[in-house]
Amino acid sequence: MWFELSQVEAMAPDQASLKSARGLAKAARWPALNSEGKLIWGECQGSGAKPYRVVVDAAGMGYRCCCPSRKLPCKHAVALMLAVSAATDIKPGVGRRTAYGACAPG
Ligand SMILES: [Zn+2]
Repeated sequence: MWFELSQVEAMAPDQASLKSARGLAKAARWPALNSEGKLIWGECQGSGAKPYRVVVDAAGMGYRCCCPSRKLPCKHAVALMLAVSAATDIKPGVGRRTAYGACAPG
């Protein structure tokens, strides 16, 4: 268990973000998802061409994402936490590794 669902819901900045995050917390949206220790990272395929790279630190409840959102955490970080917290078909350790914080330019 990485996160309690209630814990993730409490971290969402607002209800709209939580709703969006729920829509993103599906396996098809995460072409890459991996974990090492307490770090979980993945690539979230949104509406754009390039997936956003998201990292969540389960130990310190930190997060980072490449998207331009000013919300903290953004919906992608919330989605990643939702995805691994509870009842979805995503399991950390699947997919190729994404470097922490390695946001592609642009
Ligand atoms: Zn984001």
